[in-house]
Formats: sequence, structure tokens, C-alpha cells
Amino acid sequence: MAAHSRGATPVPPDARPRLTVLSGPSGVGKSTVVAHMRKAHPEVWLSVSATTRKPRPGERHGVQYFFVDDGEFDKLIANGELLEWAEFAGNRYGTPREAVQDRLAAGESVLLEIDLQGARQVRDSMPEAQLVFLAPPSWEELVRRLTGRGTELPEVIARRLEAAKTELAAEPEFDTTLVNTSVEDVAQELLTLMRVV
Ligand code: ADP
Ligand code: 5GP
Repeated sequence: MAAHSRGATPVPPDARPRLTVLSGPSGVGKSTVVAHMRKAHPEVWLSVSATTRKPRPGERHGVQYFFVDDGEFDKLIANGELLEWAEFAGNRYGTPREAVQDRLAAGESVLLEIDLQGARQVRDSMPEAQLVFLAPPSWEELVRRLTGRGTELPEVIARRLEAAKTELAAEPEFDTTLVNTSVEDVAQELLTLMRVV
């Protein structure tokens, strides 16, 4: 019997996952890893989220985020323009639906860097998505990185660390965990998981 005639067509083991979600606590190094990966592989398409958070120094509208006010975010929700959205540590964040759908329709790999609540929504609406959790080497190192980044006030850091406890506990919900000890190594592992290289 020819191999191709056996029952349902199996998914080839080397099929490229179309949608990859990268999550992990604030300060673990998600943006750093993704930036490192895209320096070598600019073809990896990263969704640009909308957020009500104020830009950090150096952040630009349409690059790191689409920075919107509360009213604009409300409209995005009301018009069904977000694939998922969540409130995180006092601000709202959401993934614009159309750009992701266009890329997926074009057969390209798509990467979302979103929080746990968003990852759960994507898992429910798109079960074929690959969920990757980025974990810190230790709790102390996570605190060090988040504090050392110097972009948040102490009370915001405290809120983010509180959220981090819930996020770390949810690690078993993810398909894969990568520990961010070395940016270089993790970027390579993510590329391998996305089968870019
Ligand atoms: P996230 O996007 O997950 O909130 P960032 O990418 O902003 O986190 O990283 C938080 C801080 O940790 C930054 O100052 C970054 O330079 C640092 N960092 C990231 N990855 C590592 C690593 N592997 N080792 C040491 N420091 C790191
Ligand atoms: P930051 O303010 O540090 O840029 O992001 C805070 C958290 O929001 C991070 O965990 C980040 O991954 C998450 N985030 C960024 N964009 C989105 C999004 O579109 N949806 C959701 N659910 N979370 C997001």
C-alpha cells in the first residue's frame, strides 16, 4: 500500500508551526530574546500589539506598540479588531487581528509576544498555536532584571512581580519551556521551535 493512501494525512513531523506564542513574566527577557532573534532573522514576523501603556523612552508608535488611549482601545474591542486582549498591571494590551490573519493566510510564520491571559485566549481560539513559556533562571534573577531595566516605578514593579507569581505557576499549560539564561541560546532554541532554521 502506498504510504500516501493510509487514512487521514498525518501532519509531517517537520511542518512549520504557523503561530507561535511567547509568554513569560515581565522582565524575563522576552523582548530582548525576540530582538536578538530578529536581528539575524528579520523575516520572522512579530505582531505589533496595541496598548494603553505610555511609551518608554525610545519606544516608537507602530514599532514596539501602537500606543492608544482608553477610548481608542475600547473601539478596537467593540469593532472586534483584536484577536485577544488583556489587562496587565494597570494597562490594556491587545493583538490586532487582521495583520495576523493576513500573515497566516499568506503561509508565513507568526510570532506573538503576549501575557498569560492572552496566551490562554489564543490557545482556546487557535488550538494549533504553539505556546512557548520563557522562564527566568531563578526568582531572584527575575527581580534583578525587572528592577535593573529601570523602566518602571517601584509600585509598578511590585504589580508586575505579583503577576509573575501567577504566570510562573501556569508554566505547565505551555507546550515548551525555555529558560532564559543565555539570550543567544534561547533565541536559537526559539528559531528551532519555529523551524526558521
Ligand atoms: P520582558 O520583555 O520579558 O519584559 P526584557 O527583554 O525587557 O524583558 O528584559 C528585562 C531586562 O533583563 C533587560 O534589562 C534585559 O537587558 C535583561 N535580560 C534579558 N535577558 C537576559 C539574560 N539572558 N541575561 C541577563 N539579562 C537579561
Ligand atoms: P510591557 O508593558 O512590559 O511591554 O508588557 C507587559 C506585558 O504585556 C508583557 O507580558 C507582554 O508580553 C504583554 N503583552 C504585550 N502585548 C500584548 C498583547 O497584545 N496581548 C496581551 N495579552 N499581552 C500583551
